[in-house]
Amino acid sequence: MPDSRRKPPVRRFSTEQGEYLVQDEVFLRDDGSKDKTVTTALTFRDFLSGRTVPLRLRRIPEQRATETVSAEERRLDSVFMKEALLLAREAFENNEVPVGAVVVKDGKVVSGARNRVMELPDPTAHAEVLAVRDAARALRTMRLTGCTLYTTLEPCYMCAGALVHSRVDRIVFGAADPRTGSCGSVFTIAGSPLVNHRFRDITGGVMAEECGRILQEFFESRRKDGS
Ligand SMILES: [Zn+2]
Repeated sequence: MPDSRRKPPVRRFSTEQGEYLVQDEVFLRDDGSKDKTVTTALTFRDFLSGRTVPLRLRRIPEQRATETVSAEERRLDSVFMKEALLLAREAFENNEVPVGAVVVKDGKVVSGARNRVMELPDPTAHAEVLAVRDAARALRTMRLTGCTLYTTLEPCYMCAGALVHSRVDRIVFGAADPRTGSCGSVFTIAGSPLVNHRFRDITGGVMAEECGRILQEFFESRRKDGS
């Protein structure tokens, strides 16, 4: 049997938020030509806290049509993440922790929300929860089957729980959250075999740098204000 996998050594990958240790796996076809590269993030060291957290995030840049996520879906991931980033920016302008989320079905945005914890005030008013509520209202269903939730920051335990209950198909997030991330960074709620919903796919790291930078800018501006 030909060796169809090649594992190069671990390498470092830095964003402004922190440093990832990642490992690429190159899959080869039988004729030796390159088939696809799978990048797994092994750990993330947060520059703010200095904490290193284990990760089990897989990013698959090159997809075959037979896989669960089509190449077209992957291409659109950054398009919808940009929509979520606009909402994060709006949160920033309203003095909220800048996180934005959109729900997409059949290539169309069904709902979008930003963090509104301070404004309401409501400790559960995270962008993902608000986006899921609006999508359910818009689609007049409690099951968001066939929907993808895009969020600029890895969902926390509350939001990951809400996503399990909503039955969304896919979760796509930007920056990993080494404090409350519940898609693998700190906890694994979304993606756990113990919960009663299997996501078709969970992808992290889409536009991670941009999504992380806006959070960093926000906390830096807060420190300057002394608040
Ligand atoms: Zn949350």
